[in-house]
Amino acid sequence: MQLIDGRKVSEDIYQSLKEEVDKIRAVGGKVPHLAAVLVGNNPASQTYVNAKVKACEQVGFGSTLLKLDENISEDALLDTIKQLNENNDIDGFIVQLPLPHQIDENKVTQAIMPHKDVDGFHPTNLGRMVLNLPAYLPATPFGIVKLLEAYKIETSGKHCVVIGRSHIVGSPMSILLARNSNPGNCTVTLCHSRTKDLATYTKQADIIILALGKPYFLKKEMIKEGVVVVDVGITRVETTTTKSGFKLAGDADFDDIAEKCSYITPVPGGVGPMTIACLMNNTLLASRKEIYKD
Ligand code: NAD
Repeated sequence: MQLIDGRKVSEDIYQSLKEEVDKIRAVGGKVPHLAAVLVGNNPASQTYVNAKVKACEQVGFGSTLLKLDENISEDALLDTIKQLNENNDIDGFIVQLPLPHQIDENKVTQAIMPHKDVDGFHPTNLGRMVLNLPAYLPATPFGIVKLLEAYKIETSGKHCVVIGRSHIVGSPMSILLARNSNPGNCTVTLCHSRTKDLATYTKQADIIILALGKPYFLKKEMIKEGVVVVDVGITRVETTTTKSGFKLAGDADFDDIAEKCSYITPVPGGVGPMTIACLMNNTLLASRKEIYKD
């Protein structure tokens, strides 16, 4: 079994982004600038947004963090988005999800101009991804593709089972791995909460992508020898082994399945660091106007 080290691969991405920033500075150019909008006080969202701002500092990007009140109206948030769309200093921005109940997430996603949508959630970017046209790819699936690439894991002709069909992870992941590209060319089965007898599919899989948010879900009797397991799940679970009384758990029962896998991502330290590195990569593309040239 080989561990897929997402921290190491993300550090390599940060290093190359830093080098790009140095080149931009050397010619007196404008460094990429990411803005993040955080609505309310959700602790997980605060942690993710802070990590994104820190990543900007690490690679030398500019960053702006807008913290908005939990009770902000949808109109006021849409107005903030309009201002960010029109602000030429900001190359790309994200609105951290989930949003409070009074706000329609779909409206917010669609209000972000596609050329600034570095999360890749806008229908235009998702549509372009399906058509294999240049697009901002959603950061988590993009990060997984980069991990498979970094470890030279063959995907062509392989059977990949994706568990979870969210718009941000499972669904785009299934599309990316089925595309005629490398990594890609998989035969993909997309499983979800209504899938019957899920183990029938996982037992046939060469690659399993777990994105369901159910800690320790995948057990060794559900997989075949030599499978590649990529674990996206992050759930805070109680434990007696840490001072805080909590730890992060993935969707795989790592200790149970690791020996049966050819490759496996740990949680933490697998997919998580790649998500932020890929967001940074999208921000560089946005500042260069490489996806939307006009
Ligand atoms: P979600 O919570 O929006 O959806 C979960 C999906 O899992 C649904 O499509 C549902 O149909 C499916 N599902 C639920 N129970 C199932 C079951 N028993 N069998 C089969 N399918 C089942 O998903 P999400 O937002 O994609 O998040 C999934 C997990 O990934 C969460 O733990 C989340 O914290 C984590 N996550 C991690 C990163 C990262 O950077 N590592 C990024 C995003 C999400």
